[in-house]
Amino acid sequence: MENQPTSDVICGQCGEPIVMREVTPCLDCGGLQGEMAEFKNGKRTFFKVGFLNNEIVCDFCLADISHYDPPYYGFPQGFSWAQALKDSPLSKTEEVETKMELACSNPRCENTLRRQEFIKENAKKNKVSLPQAFWPFV
Ligand SMILES: [Zn+2]
Ligand SMILES: [Zn+2]
Repeated sequence: MENQPTSDVICGQCGEPIVMREVTPCLDCGGLQGEMAEFKNGKRTFFKVGFLNNEIVCDFCLADISHYDPPYYGFPQGFSWAQALKDSPLSKTEEVETKMELACSNPRCENTLRRQEFIKENAKKNKVSLPQAFWPFV
């Protein structure tokens, strides 16, 4: 096994151990292991997204982000992704290097500790309880 558990933290989505591994800068898909090859081909553009606390998100995920049920991301029911994207500053970032970060060890899970902590904080800020169906281990 290349991925040894490095903490007692488990993934809030799938319950597998969180380990130190290589991730891309995207808050949403950074931990997706299949993305790595594409990332290395330099196909993605990364943006700092104002309403996501200036976290970095890739162009692919930004295009798709409105498919998330808002509470999944700690936003209240009825939150408008489209409006937030319209009102929020987006700035292209040159921070495009992969990093070693704590992320889920499950090869089918895209979750990183950064993502999970962001969503937990966002939920707390918005007084949203994270849906059990998506976050059974939080
Ligand atoms: Zn996971
Ligand atoms: Zn992404």
